[in-house]
Amino acid sequence: MANAFWCIVEDDRQGTPKKVMAEVIGEAARLSSGQAEAVWFTDKATEAGLKQLAEWGANKVWLIENAAFAPYRSEIWTGAAAELAAKATPRAILAPVTSRQREFVARLAARLGVGLAADCVAFAMDGDKLVATRPVYAGKLLAKVTWAKAPWVATLRPNVFRPADAQPGRVATVERPSVATTVAQMRFVERREEVSTGLPELTEAEIVLSGGRGMKGPEHYVILEDMARVIGAAVGASRAAVDAGWRPHRFQIGQTGRTISPKLYMGFGVSGAIQHLAGMRTSKVIVAVNKDAEAPIFKIADYGIVGDLFEVVPELTKEFKKLLEK
Ligand SMILES: Cc1cc2nc3c(=O)[nH]c(=O)nc-3n(C[C@H](O)[C@H](O)[C@H](O)COP(=O)(O)OP(=O)(O)OC[C@H]3O[C@@H](n4cnc5c(N)ncnc54)[C@H](O)[C@@H]3O)c2cc1C
Repeated sequence: MANAFWCIVEDDRQGTPKKVMAEVIGEAARLSSGQAEAVWFTDKATEAGLKQLAEWGANKVWLIENAAFAPYRSEIWTGAAAELAAKATPRAILAPVTSRQREFVARLAARLGVGLAADCVAFAMDGDKLVATRPVYAGKLLAKVTWAKAPWVATLRPNVFRPADAQPGRVATVERPSVATTVAQMRFVERREEVSTGLPELTEAEIVLSGGRGMKGPEHYVILEDMARVIGAAVGASRAAVDAGWRPHRFQIGQTGRTISPKLYMGFGVSGAIQHLAGMRTSKVIVAVNKDAEAPIFKIADYGIVGDLFEVVPELTKEFKKLLEK
């Protein structure tokens, strides 16, 4: 078996790897003493994207470029990846936690007949075994797990692992294996294009503003978006807000939504239910704004403001603007 740690590339679907890949490749390189390899399924790679993967520390890029890979369908990716993994025998297969990697990597692990450690927040080598740490019971406990056999398949929570320092000019071998692409059994009968908010992506953002039921209606999210534009944040929501139809599900933070780990999380009118905390409790700094001093979110908040968010948000936005204009 090769010692390579594969890093499945998550890209922006326009040929550019997402910056979370710096974290995945950085961790893979640390664990494997520099044996990180990127595996990129795409319908269009760019030279800049390949260069970026090399500069983050990939020694080799397996570029599997085929029109069949877009739009993403896990069955096609899985068939191709399983065929390649059987030939190349990597020691580990790592991917970031994103909607499609969650699905794809689980399916790949099943196809390879190996275990999957999902949503990992730490790794350590114990002799020649990899030990992964992952939250269980909605983040109440951290479990250490290992694999009965390789390849060790795992997904990594974004914003937790130290990103690789880019090494300008570093180059990687690019290998373009030919793999069979199965005919999709699944067809798209409806296609919805998501309209971009122009704000950072929720799981990648360093700052996240989250609006809960206390926002009182969809029309009020504009005050969070105004603040988000000033400080470069993403805007998310609690399930109560999503269930009410105020925000699309892709903005939901929590056990049944996205898991985030930003440098700064600010919750506005969010009570702090355990299922919401499951998706954001690993944020580095937590700020809560709630008019109820007894709201559970204050128990895990680093900073709290007891007050009406409709007064606090415009004030904060004004102050942030002043600070950033200095
Ligand atoms: C199986 C399961 C899975 C779930 N998954 C998720 C999940 O993924 N994500 C998630 O978020 N929830 C999830 N939930 C729901 C969760 O239990 C809570 O119901 C939900 O998180 C509550 O959302 P909230 O905090 O916005 O609303 P509430 O609990 O109603 O809290 C609203 C808060 O706003 C405050 N407030 C009101 N007006 C103002 C104001 N003007 N200024 C300041 N504060 C104000 C109130 O004091 C209150 O604390 C799940 C539940 C189940 C059972």
